[in-house]
Amino acid sequence: MNQENHMSMKRFETITFERETGNYHTFRPISCVARPYQKIEDSFPPVVGTKTCGYPPQNALGVMVFAEPRYAMAEPEEGDTPAQPNDYGESKRLCPQVVGDRDPSVIIRIGTCTTEIVKMDPEGTAPRMEAEVGVPTVVARANGSDYASTQGEDTVLAAMAHRCAEHSVAAGEGRDPARVGPPSEPPKVVPGETNPPLVLFGSLPSMVASQPSLELKRHSVQVSGWLPAQRYTDLPPLGAGVHVCGVNPFPSRTATTPMRRRKCRSVGAPFPIGPDGTRARIEKICPVFGIRPIGLRERESKVWEGLKDYLKSVRGKSVFSMGDNPSEASPARFLIGCGTIVYEIGTPYMDKRYQAAEPAPLREASRDMRIPVPRIVEKPDNYDQIQRMRESQPDPAVTGMANANPSEARGIDTKWSVEFTSAQIHGFANARDVLQSVTRSLRRSDMGDPGWTDMVSRDNDPTLQ
Ligand code: SF4
Repeated sequence: MNQENHMSMKRFETITFERETGNYHTFRPISCVARPYQKIEDSFPPVVGTKTCGYPPQNALGVMVFAEPRYAMAEPEEGDTPAQPNDYGESKRLCPQVVGDRDPSVIIRIGTCTTEIVKMDPEGTAPRMEAEVGVPTVVARANGSDYASTQGEDTVLAAMAHRCAEHSVAAGEGRDPARVGPPSEPPKVVPGETNPPLVLFGSLPSMVASQPSLELKRHSVQVSGWLPAQRYTDLPPLGAGVHVCGVNPFPSRTATTPMRRRKCRSVGAPFPIGPDGTRARIEKICPVFGIRPIGLRERESKVWEGLKDYLKSVRGKSVFSMGDNPSEASPARFLIGCGTIVYEIGTPYMDKRYQAAEPAPLREASRDMRIPVPRIVEKPDNYDQIQRMRESQPDPAVTGMANANPSEARGIDTKWSVEFTSAQIHGFANARDVLQSVTRSLRRSDMGDPGWTDMVSRDNDPTLQ
């Protein structure tokens, strides 16, 4: 192979990973308390942090903050800085109040930068508090010093995994009241369950959560439980013989906890985003249980067929994903499969072991569509990214709200990345929603050039002076 051919092969087949300064915008991980608390109906997550920590969830929750959400801030004052003694004293004052007012089945104590810096000992005080108030207390250190955005949810789920009952082969031994609190009902027996237990993890909206289970059921794979379940008291049993598989690209800590601490077997599969990802995922899971999926390719083709109108608008277009939550690679892989050029996939953190099943389909999609493999930039530098974005002029740039309007004003169409973490994008049925979301800005720009460039303040932009 001559050198030129070799170079072009490399361009199409090698994924380059780079790491920058980590100087990027993202939501604070504590903003993600919204997801688990909405999902786990009987939980109450107090966030122990300053007013600085209080503002982001208030803003991120939007109008939901007026719906008496089941979360609250416990804001330390100056007297609390000696930490541990006062921490326990304050918890003792607040927790009975929470239990009295809301009667939760679990208190999820969310730690912040403040609790880290003053070295509070939440794991130390939680068991004492638990005994005091009689309600399980789980500790999640979802601080912004260590994590980004949706990783907040990951810390909560990883903490929850410790509280799941021990799985036992004998029916009915799945629940352990000492671990999951008062049992609400007798253990459910899944009718027709044939495969060893399979627990899916990741908090999907209830409407979408049934879909991964139903897709697997079509191929005779029964899902025995979800982490998190709708109620804390329904957490699935974990233990040797249980298989676990994530539905989202970000809960990598949650993936390791059942493996290391509970002897579960992790099933690595692409994430069910786009028809290609959904098909590839089922193809990975079925053989684990000795099942050969039938009719999957045909089903995938039908979904692609149904997307025809959207494919026309995204084929040949380009995307630059700045990256603010660790799940950018899967939607990018789907977009490449649609014929869209993805210049760059920024991401705060990529766990190469947990996301190990994604690079191969991403490479395949690039090769099939004759599109160069994108570079993956971990811990991106937003300043440098903006220079690269200006050079590549994508249509659109997937970015956070901080950079969206300034980019629009400079003639770059944008798509707010936060939608990918809250919209229903999983499974065959929701592939259309991903494209709908990406093409929204394209449809807007098809309406003509509104002359945004004239609206940039020249005083503030040296490149325009
Ligand atoms: S980054 Fe730290 S200080 Fe800021 S809101 Fe998050 S936890 Fe609080």
